[in-house]
Amino acid sequence: MGVILCKHCMTVIDTIDSEKVTTYYSDCHELECFEKRARQSSQAADSSESSD
Ligand SMILES: [Zn+2]
Repeated sequence: MGVILCKHCMTVIDTIDSEKVTTYYSDCHELECFEKRARQSSQAADSSESSD
C-alpha cells in the first residue's frame, strides 16, 4: 500500500493500492496547514526584528 502525506504537516492525504510500500509527499491544501506555516514564518521574522 502506498500513502500520500502532506509534506508540511504529515497528514495522510490519500492512500494508493500498490504492491510496494511507497510514500509520496504532496500538499494537503488545508487552510489550517497553510495558516500554521504562515504563522511560523511570521514568528521567525518577528524574533529576528525584536532581538535587542
Ligand atoms: Zn498539510
